[in-house]
Amino acid sequence: MINTIRTVLLTSILVSLGIVHADVSDDKPVMPIMQKPIAIAIHGGAGTITKANLSEQQAQQYRAKLKEALLAGYAQLEAGKDGQAAVISAIQILEQSPLFNAGIGAVYTYAGEHELDASIMHGAKRLAGAVSGVKTIVSPIAAAQAVMNHSQHVMLSGRGAEEFAQQQGLAQVDNKVFNTERRFNALQKAKRVIADSQTQLLEFQDYKFGTVGAVVLDQQGNVVAGTSTGGMTAKRYGRIGDSPIIGAGTFADNNSCAVSATGHGEYFIRYQVAADICARMAYQGLSLQAAADKVINEVLVEADGTGGVIAIDSAGNIAMPFNTEGMYRASIDIHGKMSIAIYR
Ligand code: ASP
Repeated sequence: MINTIRTVLLTSILVSLGIVHADVSDDKPVMPIMQKPIAIAIHGGAGTITKANLSEQQAQQYRAKLKEALLAGYAQLEAGKDGQAAVISAIQILEQSPLFNAGIGAVYTYAGEHELDASIMHGAKRLAGAVSGVKTIVSPIAAAQAVMNHSQHVMLSGRGAEEFAQQQGLAQVDNKVFNTERRFNALQKAKRVIADSQTQLLEFQDYKFGTVGAVVLDQQGNVVAGTSTGGMTAKRYGRIGDSPIIGAGTFADNNSCAVSATGHGEYFIRYQVAADICARMAYQGLSLQAAADKVINEVLVEADGTGGVIAIDSAGNIAMPFNTEGMYRASIDIHGKMSIAIYR
């Protein structure tokens, strides 16, 4: 009896506050559907991207593809899916586009092949998966997700990773499927530059970028990050960059933030860029923007490391600092506001 009175009283208070709808037909109040905050940010690489070396038509193509990927990821978040579904959806669209250095459109190795790297990390339990140096997996980010969800390991490489992907039923293709004329020409240019060591360092800046990545906050309050890349033009000897390395190119922890990086991988590995941003939030109490700015625009700049990150925290704040001329980037914040940008 006392419980019934209490329920009736509580319900009428909630009705008067507008928290419970009044037209309930039985004693089970219908709670209004209050959408939890969701947000997403994606990148398509950072580098020497200026209005002088990108035509307006090319810029439009990049913006359109970024928007398509962004909306695909956002749709998953709106549907209440786990953040990893959103990261995968967004990145797979970019992997399939020849515009970006991931999947189709990946840069060439010195030997004239493509060796792809990818990783994903989920912030709830810090689960992570990565593949490196794979040549035949259509979607390296899907393979990274399979490593995270269906193996006991974090990173698989080369032939072993391909064998695992095959067992997981993931599509495989001939390495030539990733060929594009633009990247082939970049390899020829890189080889000429390498032969002429005087210009090597300066010119090399031009064609190592184009990696793709996504970070999200899902309705369950999880932050998730993913990154996929072909690495650096003319890379040799099985070189692996930061993109598949958890803590360097990708990191996620619900207690701080999720980060996907792009830039000169060797620096991002040595400076543990993604994890350092999250650690500065956790240990120094910095805001996401302050932590990301510190690492990208101070620590990395001092070290001569070029690149940028997209980062999101568990409140849905987004930061996208970069220390290059441009970074292909797009986001939808917790208020549903979309932004797509290329230049500084
Ligand atoms: N970070 C990538 C790598 O070093 C390259 C990039 O972001 O464009 O492999």
